[in-house]
Amino acid sequence: MNRDFTLNTYRRFLLSLLEAGYMFVTFGEVREWQVKFPHEPLPWQRYVMLRHDVDKKAGRSLLTAQIEHELGICASYYFRVTPQSNQPAVIRSIAELGHEIGYHYEDMSIANGDVEKALAHFEQWLTYFRTFYPVKTICMHGAPTSRYDGRDLWKTKDYRDYGIIGEPYFDIDFSQVFYLTDTGRCWDGFRVSVRDKVPAQAQWTQQGRVFHSTDDLIACLSDGTYEQKLGKTVMITTHPQRWTNGIAPWLQEYMSQNAKNLIKRVLLWGKGY
Ligand SMILES: [Zn+2]
Repeated sequence: MNRDFTLNTYRRFLLSLLEAGYMFVTFGEVREWQVKFPHEPLPWQRYVMLRHDVDKKAGRSLLTAQIEHELGICASYYFRVTPQSNQPAVIRSIAELGHEIGYHYEDMSIANGDVEKALAHFEQWLTYFRTFYPVKTICMHGAPTSRYDGRDLWKTKDYRDYGIIGEPYFDIDFSQVFYLTDTGRCWDGFRVSVRDKVPAQAQWTQQGRVFHSTDDLIACLSDGTYEQKLGKTVMITTHPQRWTNGIAPWLQEYMSQNAKNLIKRVLLWGKGY
């Protein structure tokens, strides 16, 4: 049996996407085209936007970035302001490999819901991340235990005013783009996710467009059912800290995620889900 969420499995997954004919286009590239040519179809027929939320253990994201680079793939890496994520040497190396860098923002939680403070904090850190890369996309950090939803920052203010052209939760039409996330350390963890979810997932589940393990996805890519199940356009979100080859860190991820999933279930239950 293959262990899931290892770098070897990650590489096999990427290879099976390439073999099935998916191109890899960054979210930033897609948004640039859409902003420049709003009435024209996109130039990519079948493509994946690969997104990485670097929540912690930033060093591990350099390993996925290197694997992608070897395979000629560009992805988008979103970094938080926390010390576990914001590691300048890692951010610099990933940018040098040709990947997109973005801001994984959680300013509302940090500012305890004070919108003015949160906006000032957002601007300050966006400027910081732009010292590594000309950041043009951002992505909310889900923060399951926080009472604040990061997206509330944009109730009174427009991120376009900061030169940002894309935020996946606002700028992707999920009736056209299939979404996969490794939240919960499986591919159907949106059931226990507090914020990393999109409304279309309920419908996709009814249609059988749901996967548990990475090997389920690889099987779908090799048996041809990806045409119906994945469709032409997919955003794949991973948290690189989960993907490791070493037995001890792999076991640690495995056990801590089981505990976290239990806590999330209790939180959702408490909210009446
Ligand atoms: Zn996150």
